[in-house]
Amino acid sequence: MFTVVQWNIRGLRSNFEELKLLLNRSQSAVVALQECRLGEGQVPPRGYTLLLPQGGSPGGEAALLIRNGTRFSEIDLKTGLHAAAATFSLEKTLTVCYLYLPPNSPVSKLSLAELFEQLPKPFLVLVDFNAHSPAWGDSRRDGRGRMLEEFTAENDLIILNSGEQTFVHSAYHSTSAIDLVVASPSIAAECSWAAHSDLCGSDHFPIFLTLSSNFNSNVAAAAYFPEHPDRSKTTRLRDGASVFSAEQEGIALALTEIKKLTKYHKNFVIYSDSLSVLQAIQSKNFKVIDIRRLYNLIRKFPTYVHISFVWIPAHVGIQGNENVDKLAKAALNRSSTPGKLICYSDLKPKINTYIKSVWQRDWDAEGANKLHEVLPNLGEDLHRRGEGAGRKLETAMCRLRVGHTWLTQSYLLKYEQQPFCYACDSLYTVRHILIECPDFQDTRRKYFSVTDMYRLFREVNPSRIVGYLKDLGVYGKI
Ligand SMILES: [Zn+2]
Repeated sequence: MFTVVQWNIRGLRSNFEELKLLLNRSQSAVVALQECRLGEGQVPPRGYTLLLPQGGSPGGEAALLIRNGTRFSEIDLKTGLHAAAATFSLEKTLTVCYLYLPPNSPVSKLSLAELFEQLPKPFLVLVDFNAHSPAWGDSRRDGRGRMLEEFTAENDLIILNSGEQTFVHSAYHSTSAIDLVVASPSIAAECSWAAHSDLCGSDHFPIFLTLSSNFNSNVAAAAYFPEHPDRSKTTRLRDGASVFSAEQEGIALALTEIKKLTKYHKNFVIYSDSLSVLQAIQSKNFKVIDIRRLYNLIRKFPTYVHISFVWIPAHVGIQGNENVDKLAKAALNRSSTPGKLICYSDLKPKINTYIKSVWQRDWDAEGANKLHEVLPNLGEDLHRRGEGAGRKLETAMCRLRVGHTWLTQSYLLKYEQQPFCYACDSLYTVRHILIECPDFQDTRRKYFSVTDMYRLFREVNPSRIVGYLKDLGVYGKI
């Protein structure tokens, strides 16, 4: 797992302690900071190096903080935009680019395209753009927002933001989502975006980009023969192949080599630390792709050859197992074996993650939908919160979450006008009753203090919500 942090810190000096806590928490190797307001003699937190953009960074005072020992090379960008980029050599390479655009300077799709073309893939571009669009959770859309929406769509780029707000205006307490992350598609599926719950002294929330372990999980396979070490075989699987595939491949390598040894020996033992593959072979689970291939390899041996399979636990110092791990690790540095295809089942999790990210993006564009506030992140299992509390309460909570209750919607069935709140004369909606109505505020305070639907359904015990509605005398009409 690998984390990149993006944060408009609003003064490196003033929020230095907060930054150190964040670094401790995230263990991040790369932090993109904006509005550093670097003064004379400002030193980075211990263990980190400050990398400033070539040619300075007017207005934004951006800098990359890089953990010492992280291998990277700076990219010499040819652009008129305020941008800096570096390619990081983790177990795989990743380019991180920081792009700042002052509020009134012009920008065109062409200049963006020229910049993006210079970035080696996969890349993450952290954008401080002052661009507004509901596509990433902002309440309004402006010219820059529209342009960026078009640019990302035309160039098959993905905005990772989840729709959460990233900026709080300190005077008006209004919020917007202006800290953006644009990603190339291959990395987008493996990267999750999350805003910190605390401003940490700034007016922007720190943002965590977590690259799943898949990102680093290129795999290789090896077979090691203790009595014939020179016969050891390795192969590097294609990027994206699963560990399970690699384990099957290791056994296939062993079987292929054993075939050549049947002239000299009759009895063989294959030791594998993959219980799942051994079980799949034993149970002839041909739904698992490639198990049929292994099974056929085994079947073709002459009957006088006997092959046993033994499961051994991994990483406990069994010498042969350590040797084979070393061989496989060394093979990771090779390029993948040409012609060897990737098994389609290995791609399923990636396809699922990608589809979900597209769905999430579409959903995030529905900022005005009342359901979005209740469930901004798709896939969250909210209904479990009321589980076990009885059917009546579960039904009521479900109706409240979707915003359809007898109390507020029965007018539709009765061909009547939409009702107004008897207390304050606003439109009578579930949100109005639960959160908004000022006349119910005193009663509400006795039960909960949250001021939005998101937190209401996560932080407040359902029995308190019910208590509040009973107190108002409307629970029976939910
Ligand atoms: Zn009211």
